[in-house]
Amino acid sequence: MIKLFLLLFFLLPSSVSAQELLVRAFASYKIMAAAADCESGNITWEGKKIEGKLTVAVSAKGISASFNGENHSAQSLTIHAGGNGVYIYGHGTPKRLYRGPITFSTDSKGFLKIINRVQTETYLPSVLTGEIGDLKQMEAYKAQAITARTYTLTLKNNHIKEGYNLCDSPHCQVYYGAENIKPKAAEAVEATRGQVLTYKGKPAATFYHSSCGGYTEDMSYVWKGNQKKPYLISVRDGDNPRKPYCAIAPKFKWKVKLYFTGLTRIARQNEWINKNEEAVGLRVSESGEPGGRVHELELYTRERRIKISATDFYHGIGRKERWNAVKSCNFKIIQGKGYVILDGKGSGHGVGMCQWGAEGMARHGFNYKQILYHYYPGTVIKYD
Ligand SMILES: [Zn+2]
Ligand SMILES: [Zn+2]
Repeated sequence: MIKLFLLLFFLLPSSVSAQELLVRAFASYKIMAAAADCESGNITWEGKKIEGKLTVAVSAKGISASFNGENHSAQSLTIHAGGNGVYIYGHGTPKRLYRGPITFSTDSKGFLKIINRVQTETYLPSVLTGEIGDLKQMEAYKAQAITARTYTLTLKNNHIKEGYNLCDSPHCQVYYGAENIKPKAAEAVEATRGQVLTYKGKPAATFYHSSCGGYTEDMSYVWKGNQKKPYLISVRDGDNPRKPYCAIAPKFKWKVKLYFTGLTRIARQNEWINKNEEAVGLRVSESGEPGGRVHELELYTRERRIKISATDFYHGIGRKERWNAVKSCNFKIIQGKGYVILDGKGSGHGVGMCQWGAEGMARHGFNYKQILYHYYPGTVIKYD
């Protein structure tokens, strides 16, 4: 036990208990300097109150900071944001509010590194606020609180080599500080405090998506090469095939007309076809049973057929065209002259929990445990 403690102690730059996280703020911005507005809160450095503004910049020694009319040069600088917290911003970044210890230093590439030390149970309401969108039901919030807590646990070693646990970007999990937290998100985190979803004693991979359209999808069809997980299988979303739990989702059904001229452009951009080839047809060549989600498509040119995995197609259209019209791989193709119509249901990759289905189940009176066990069959909720 002592050995384990020592090991953990040396792995992390400073000791972090199981319930604490070191989160890098503004991780997706490359900034060399930042400022902190210290007027409103109780912001201290080595026990002394900081009045007014603090500025900090990357320097040869590490960082140079200026506050209370003094300049400080050091490898790193830690301030403590009590009270309402402190607003921090860099050039071209939004202003964000942070509470607790905040450490400024330089990363290996020479950019400013800002680390906020935060309790997991304080971090989660902020994450959850970003994830729940328009959901309304408390039981759905609680289910999502547990998926977020579980996911956080599985991410904790993501940036250990860089001296922190998680970054605040979608690379790990979106965390934009202590502001604009939905009270219901905080309530759901509190109500499920410490609960995580496990499979055979280990934290489960708690993927989720907006709405499945009737059936969730087996993970192994979505991310090829991933090992099959017994709890990430296709699940029917309710007893009524005409009205699955997620049928309440906004824009549950969608249609998109795809002209072959547009399809040609997308296909060339994605290098599915060569620059001199033209797309003249598209059909579904493989779909899942019984859900009917598309697994593979066939794209036709005048000379040949090209097989495209549904995931590549879905991302290829979304990413290259910045076009969210194709919302999921749950669609049928209607053939037209010079075009096809994708007639679809649901939104997202379809793996794991269906968020709008969770909302629908909660409206039907199911609790968060029933919701989680429905979407992740065979898992067990345990205390972390
Ligand atoms: Zn990350
Ligand atoms: Zn669903």
